Amino acid sequence: MVKQNQPQQRATFAIVTVVLPGPDRKRQPAPYLFHVTYRNPKPNEPGCVMTWNVTGGREEYQIAAERTEDAHLYWHCTCPDAVYHGENHHAHRCKHVQGLHAMLETIGNPVRRQPAAA
Ligand SMILES: [Zn+2]
Repeated sequence: MVKQNQPQQRATFAIVTVVLPGPDRKRQPAPYLFHVTYRNPKPNEPGCVMTWNVTGGREEYQIAAERTEDAHLYWHCTCPDAVYHGENHHAHRCKHVQGLHAMLETIGNPVRRQPAAA
């Protein structure tokens, strides 16, 4: 691990950059940083599996992967798009969750994938 000059508030697991449609009107591709802030040591048990901080958009957002008692995996994001569509029983995925999924599929998924159909 590389030593950093700035002291960190908490342990850093990983930071991944994903290019997504940007926050400007033209949605020009922009880099978003996905920073793992929590990782459950028992990811197959019900509860919060992982959380990420997302920066690069208008504001900073949080994504959480939640495993339910019946082993479904639900994705939560605090961005307006996800909150607005949240009433749609998690069928909608905002660009942050979509980007995270695309990245996980590229590097190998640390959590089991669920079909999008409800
Ligand atoms: Zn989002």
